[in-house]
Amino acid sequence: MPSLELTISVACSTGIESALRNAPIVSSLGPEPWNEPWWKAAQGDRSTFLYLLAIHLLAIAGLIFFPVPGWKIATATLVLTWLGGMGVTVCYHRSLAHVALRLHASVRHALIFFAMFNGSGAPDSWTANHRQHHAKVETPEDISSPTIGGFWWSHLRWLWQAGNVPLSRWCPDLDKPQYRFWRRLQVPILAVSLFGGLAFGWTAFFWLGAIRLVFSLHAQCFVNSIAHMRPHRQPGEDSSQNIGWLGVLHLFQGENWHGNHHAKPWSARLGWKLWQIDFGWYAIVLLEAVGLAARVRRPH
Ligand SMILES: [Zn+2]
Ligand SMILES: [Zn+2]
Repeated sequence: MPSLELTISVACSTGIESALRNAPIVSSLGPEPWNEPWWKAAQGDRSTFLYLLAIHLLAIAGLIFFPVPGWKIATATLVLTWLGGMGVTVCYHRSLAHVALRLHASVRHALIFFAMFNGSGAPDSWTANHRQHHAKVETPEDISSPTIGGFWWSHLRWLWQAGNVPLSRWCPDLDKPQYRFWRRLQVPILAVSLFGGLAFGWTAFFWLGAIRLVFSLHAQCFVNSIAHMRPHRQPGEDSSQNIGWLGVLHLFQGENWHGNHHAKPWSARLGWKLWQIDFGWYAIVLLEAVGLAARVRRPH
């Protein structure tokens, strides 16, 4: 079972025996928050809801009034999107959540910055949500299951309705000053990410800010939603699947090979075949070659 494989993998790597215990969703909206109206936010998550609403409204306005960014702004938007995606897949997902490799501190913290600049939140909460997802996949305790809550629950709604998973239970290994430091910087970094483009004019404001953040958000959210909506599966079977076209939205950084990932969540490589493009993996191989990544776990 992939969920057991992950929890054992995490527990062995980090000594988290508590990851093997039950950890139900704790939402102020009740035990089945997916049955609540979509606009109701769990306690403490109203700001997340309003932020997501705001960036969507700004992105729509930007696409209407400034639909053509010009090559300089387009390139800058693409570079920031690329770095943010790498921050999530290489650092948050493969290194922190699954301990599939160890990154040199300089690379790790640079990637955390770009992941946070991309709107992915602090490293500890991302890791806790993700570990619970794997360990409890397709049960009511899975933070973002489309089987339990439907497409929109798994795609977006869980972000403001599921409540907070207990960090002490899921990522005690990240309960260190170096990670708590980033949590305190979350709002300032996001503010610069959203508004910083204004220094270069209105087109840059919309493209470098809200349009980039909304694009990156949905690219990631598709992994929780459609990459877990495999058709023709038996009840109780793992729902994860590889989706080739999703690679375009992920700039071919590898997260679209989600079926591979759930089969071997401890592997740092997500694209197993030569044709399964995985720039996250290529970056890891490069980092390993120059001594900035170690203990890289390969599928076998
Ligand atoms: Zn998954
Ligand atoms: Zn994972």
